[in-house]
Amino acid sequence: MSAPMPLRLVIVGCSLAGLRAAQAARREGFEGSVVLVGREEHLPYDRPPLSKGFLVDDHAEATFFVGADDLTALDVDVRLGVAATGLDAAAKSVITGQKRIGYDKLIIATGGDARLLVDIDHSPRHLLDSGHADFYTPGGLRRLAGHLHPGGVFALWSDDPPDADFAAVLAEVFETAEAHVVSFDNPYGGGKCANTVYVARLGAR
Ligand SMILES: Cc1cc2nc3c(=O)[nH]c(=O)nc-3n(C[C@H](O)[C@H](O)[C@H](O)COP(=O)(O)OP(=O)(O)OC[C@H]3O[C@@H](n4cnc5c(N)ncnc54)[C@H](O)[C@@H]3O)c2cc1C
Repeated sequence: MSAPMPLRLVIVGCSLAGLRAAQAARREGFEGSVVLVGREEHLPYDRPPLSKGFLVDDHAEATFFVGADDLTALDVDVRLGVAATGLDAAAKSVITGQKRIGYDKLIIATGGDARLLVDIDHSPRHLLDSGHADFYTPGGLRRLAGHLHPGGVFALWSDDPPDADFAAVLAEVFETAEAHVVSFDNPYGGGKCANTVYVARLGAR
């Protein structure tokens, strides 16, 4: 009896989730080939310091979770600067422009792309720099809204509970504005956190 063909695992998205998926596959004994496809030109890097750190130290540098050698040691075929543009599920292929990458198993780890999600300060009341204050006024928000398409959504992450005064400012500029409380385990700060995400939408025209 011939040996079974090794499987090919393709992971789309070369950031934290994609990397951890590749590492977990190897740790759990997956012996087939692993292809990690990422749209960015960089190996996976730690993102939070790039917003928090940059505002207090403009020399903040990216920290990479692994080096190319680590992925070579794991026998992971990393393809950076390659965007998946489609999926042919029937043919089990990821489409990357004019090319295809066949897979036996597929993991999509492309994260989430918000249209305009802003995370600048701790909250609209607790600023990392007093020069940001204007952003949270009707004038500042109107300038931001000018960058959105009709019907566009602006979301703002805040470390504080919902703030009725700021919600009123949002409602002055946008057609709809809501404050959602989000509870989660915070691996960076430790313990449970409850933050607020403001979501505001412009009118359709
Ligand atoms: C500036 C910033 C600050 C943050 N601060 C915090 C914080 O303080 N605390 C906290 O808990 N979390 C924070 N986060 C969130 C945290 O970094 C994310 O939760 C984490 O990066 C999610 O990892 P991910 O792999 O799921 O997705 P992502 O990191 O979003 O990675 C998805 C990857 O997939 C790639 N991709 C997308 N589409 C395609 C495609 N079609 N083809 C190929 N590749 C594709 C993208 O280029 C990207 O590299 C922050 C994120 C950012 C950007």
